[in-house]
Amino acid sequence: MELSEILDLRPEPAAGLLLALTRRCPLACAHCSTDSSMDSPDHPDRPRRSQLLRFVRSFTPKQRPDVVLLTGGEPLLLPDLAHALTRAAQGAGSQVALLSGLFFARDGGRIPPPILRTITALDHFSASLDAPHEREVPRAAVFRVLARVLDAGVPVSLHLTGTGPDDPYLADATAAVLHEFGERVPMLVNEVRAVGRSTTGRTATGPGGPCAMAAWPTVAPDGTVLACCSQRTVDRRPVPPHLRLGHIAEDDWPTVRRRTLDSPRLRLIRVLGPDHLRARTGGGPAEGGYCAGCRALPAQPGPDDDAAAGAAGRLLDQLSAARLRAQGPIALLRRHGCAPYAHLAQPGAPA
Ligand code: SF4
Repeated sequence: MELSEILDLRPEPAAGLLLALTRRCPLACAHCSTDSSMDSPDHPDRPRRSQLLRFVRSFTPKQRPDVVLLTGGEPLLLPDLAHALTRAAQGAGSQVALLSGLFFARDGGRIPPPILRTITALDHFSASLDAPHEREVPRAAVFRVLARVLDAGVPVSLHLTGTGPDDPYLADATAAVLHEFGERVPMLVNEVRAVGRSTTGRTATGPGGPCAMAAWPTVAPDGTVLACCSQRTVDRRPVPPHLRLGHIAEDDWPTVRRRTLDSPRLRLIRVLGPDHLRARTGGGPAEGGYCAGCRALPAQPGPDDDAAAGAAGRLLDQLSAARLRAQGPIALLRRHGCAPYAHLAQPGAPA
């Protein structure tokens, strides 16, 4: 599965699932969006691991996400759990991708056998690359890992983060990747921003219109299931009621999927966006921006929710996703990533 295929599915409600296995990470990258460290208590104990497996085993061939993205923290701190979840999801027909910071490659790019076993079971493998990260894991080691994974036949991508379109780091790093790998390593380039995670899971937020990030449920490291992957939302407790989809201790995938598809408020966020909803309820722009405005939406359902609850609301939701998908992954990244680099996610496609 290529990066562009994952991105193509991103606007489709419940077509994907983000599973944050842990908040722990051995790296100490200065900009880390998930505030990860090895001290974090958000690391799955035995009961939580069982819950994760039970949740993924509730997928069926007719009711399963098309793609599962394993994230963290660092998901490869748990290679056996990641492997078991991968095989369970694939058994129902899902494809599985994993995003890693490559902590294990710091000393020369070697991949320990348990981690290689997990990576080679995946349908897609993504690695992070940015300036603070390179101080922890040298670029040469990252390239060595990617070459090894490509040799094993697993499609790969890089998730690069910079300060903006003019960041010289991004120009240098993307040129180096193209020089080393040509078009074999697609790149998803994001900007460090105050809020949000990316189109597949890391950084970035919507620009003010409809929010495609409300399409895929996210399982937080504590097992809470949220309607979006914005890091500030994932970290917030209690979760705003309209963005909470359940908990893996109590809910299975068909339940989470149904709530994702049927929630009138989530349909409205996906079709109109939170700014529009706030304006219709008499609220102005929220202090703190787009996602802050979404989190502050009134819990009480209003007339718009009533209108979005029926068959017309479902149809509008489907049409909105179809329209976004028709625009393609590059258009999605122009809105949600670092626009001048959006084309690198789908090498060979018309820019
Ligand atoms: S908080 Fe709301 S607007 Fe922000 S990414 Fe999540 S669903 Fe979208």
